[in-house]
Amino acid sequence: MKKPINMLDLRAEFALFGEQVKCAVHRVLESQQFIGGPDIAELERQVAAKLGIAEAVAVSNGTDALLCALMALGVGAGDEVIVPTFTFFATAGCVHRLGAKPVFVDIDPATFCLDPARVRAALTPRTKGIIPVHLYGQCAAMSDLLTIAREHRLFVLEDAAQAIGARFNGEVAGGMGELGCLSFYPTKNLGGFGEGGMILTRDTALAARCRQLRNHGQSQQYLHEFVGGNFRLDTLKAAILLVKLPHWEKFTRQRQESAALYDALLKGAPVRTPVVAPGNTHVYHQYTIDCDRRDELMSFLKERDIGTAVYYPVPLHRQPCFAHLKCRTEDFPVAEAASRRVLSLPVHPMLTEEEIRRVAGAIHEFFGSRAR
Ligand SMILES: *Cc1c(COP(=O)(O)O)cnc(C)c1O
Repeated sequence: MKKPINMLDLRAEFALFGEQVKCAVHRVLESQQFIGGPDIAELERQVAAKLGIAEAVAVSNGTDALLCALMALGVGAGDEVIVPTFTFFATAGCVHRLGAKPVFVDIDPATFCLDPARVRAALTPRTKGIIPVHLYGQCAAMSDLLTIAREHRLFVLEDAAQAIGARFNGEVAGGMGELGCLSFYPTKNLGGFGEGGMILTRDTALAARCRQLRNHGQSQQYLHEFVGGNFRLDTLKAAILLVKLPHWEKFTRQRQESAALYDALLKGAPVRTPVVAPGNTHVYHQYTIDCDRRDELMSFLKERDIGTAVYYPVPLHRQPCFAHLKCRTEDFPVAEAASRRVLSLPVHPMLTEEEIRRVAGAIHEFFGSRAR
């Protein structure tokens, strides 16, 4: 009986640094400081330094990072914000929560990220900004999107939740727009122990505003200049992330090596392996193929104890909570097709070459194809 191949193996990762995590937890428990303190500032300093972005603001999760960033940008009622329809819910949910309108835009069929031409077509006098999502770990078409933003005086808020460390033309994900957001959800490339997130920016004034919003808009104790929220990251989680952070670059390389092996092994199979756009360094949060008979393939792999996942089966323009926006399915042909055709294969850092060969072999077996 072969070992199942899962989308994640967090236990195997934990074995690499578990003792250090236990020490860090113990240290925080002894200090009895659970909010704020030097671990938060140190995590912010180290992430900012590793990514080469001036400012990093640790927050409660990736969703709150987006919400707090949109609050800092002054998004509110009457504003429209352009978001891809093919993304995790939070990207659009945060826009709606501030009383603004998420304007869904279709994606590029090669990268599954926002299609700049369709962004242009969606602009109105009310458009206030664009949220490109660096889906699966590669940057959206940032040069075109930044050009559109400059021409129309729009903000760019990068949703880099899946793309920590990804680069476009040497520029790091989350460091190109006014603000960028990361998530430390346990399944993300830098996964914490529970919820966590971060806001990135080169703008010190915006960073200061995010720090204030994170703490109910307080400028000094019990004096609130504006309304924020409780978007604080727990000290315990920051202390644990400080233990995991030194492993993150190596884990990213392992994902990239696994992806390269899949690319080679899947040649000859009737599937489209991930297309990396020119200038992009992909960090493979997901290794997502595009194929016919996706659901059948998924069941076939499941019978062989190989886990896979579909991100995302229902595009946001079809979500019941956005029915009032009266979106027309025919306006999103690429996302509609992608939602029926994408399949993410295991690509976590603990995956072995033998396991990758088993996955690729099973895909060939399903299609009756042969490796080239
Ligand atoms: C994970 C994710 C988020 C939200 O992050 P949480 O930490 O789960 O709140 C936002 N956008 C995208 C694209 C994500 O993948």
